[in-house]
Amino acid sequence: MISDHDMIRAWTQVLTLSKLEAGQTVTVLTSASTHPQTLQTAVIAASGMGAIVNRLDLPPVNGDLAHSRDPLAYLGTTPLTGNRAAIAMLKESDLVLDLMTLLFSPEQHEILQAGTKILLAVEPPEILARLVPTEADRSRVRAAAARIEKAKEMHIVSDAGTDLRCALGEFPVISEYGYVDEPGRWDHWPSGFALTWPDERRTNGTIVLDRGDIILPQKSYVAEPVRLTMKEGYCVAIEGGVDAALLRDYMASFNDPEAYAMSHIGWGLQPRARWSTLALYDRERTIGMDARAYEGNFLCSLGPNNEAGGSRNTACHIDIPIRNCTVRLDGEDMVTRGVVQDGFGRALA
Ligand code: FE
Repeated sequence: MISDHDMIRAWTQVLTLSKLEAGQTVTVLTSASTHPQTLQTAVIAASGMGAIVNRLDLPPVNGDLAHSRDPLAYLGTTPLTGNRAAIAMLKESDLVLDLMTLLFSPEQHEILQAGTKILLAVEPPEILARLVPTEADRSRVRAAAARIEKAKEMHIVSDAGTDLRCALGEFPVISEYGYVDEPGRWDHWPSGFALTWPDERRTNGTIVLDRGDIILPQKSYVAEPVRLTMKEGYCVAIEGGVDAALLRDYMASFNDPEAYAMSHIGWGLQPRARWSTLALYDRERTIGMDARAYEGNFLCSLGPNNEAGGSRNTACHIDIPIRNCTVRLDGEDMVTRGVVQDGFGRALA
């Protein structure tokens, strides 16, 4: 557990980095799963900085459709869908603290277009406090994003058998560093990674999850290798043992061919996030941001690209952070066997 004082201090750091000013309007978006301490300390911190603070509590949706309680396990409709009054309240706010998991949706896009900032924060308080963002996180992630922006191809290889090529340039590059310092910006506390989406139908090769690699939202470490065959932007085969069978069955439950499309790709840059943390947590107590952000992972995913401006809008989303990969942009190593080559962090050790 963590003290209210430490959480208020963490919120104050995030809100200061997010350039919250006295007199601005903050709306805290909550639902049935919102952590009470995260909510209370957000309200105290924002109020202490002189903001006008509202709370908007909405009933949960998709509970009958999702196969797990993970808020990222079923995308699509949100409590804002068709809710014009709620959308109007959020658009009138300078900053929305999303303690509900709004996720990318047409409504979120509309709110951001109005200049409102949105910061998602749903990990439990002690994870938020451990991974509270810094300006250094932002600099490092922005530098990686700038490198992706110039690249035409991402090529990922590993000793385990991964050999994947993704053409780049069609979709924007996203920097996730955990705070919202520009109007209309969305981010997720905690984070620390840069990502983009490959060009439509231009991902080819093989992704091999080795023993110990993580699948989300399963939140499990695979016990034996899983081989994903990617052809023209889609996963056409998932082979291996029981972990592969579990993934195949889960994805089949969505009955949606678009679930198998290549989604975002990038690498982790957060030295305070750990590969091993997921092993310590009950599955329903975390959404697995340590796994998504740990330094030197290759994070790839299957599912939608609407969050990048594409047209794919599937409810299924699988995130796969992989260890010990070499990630190259146009032939130049960005990550070598799981070590980021940017002069920071573990590369210096
Ligand atoms: Fe994802």
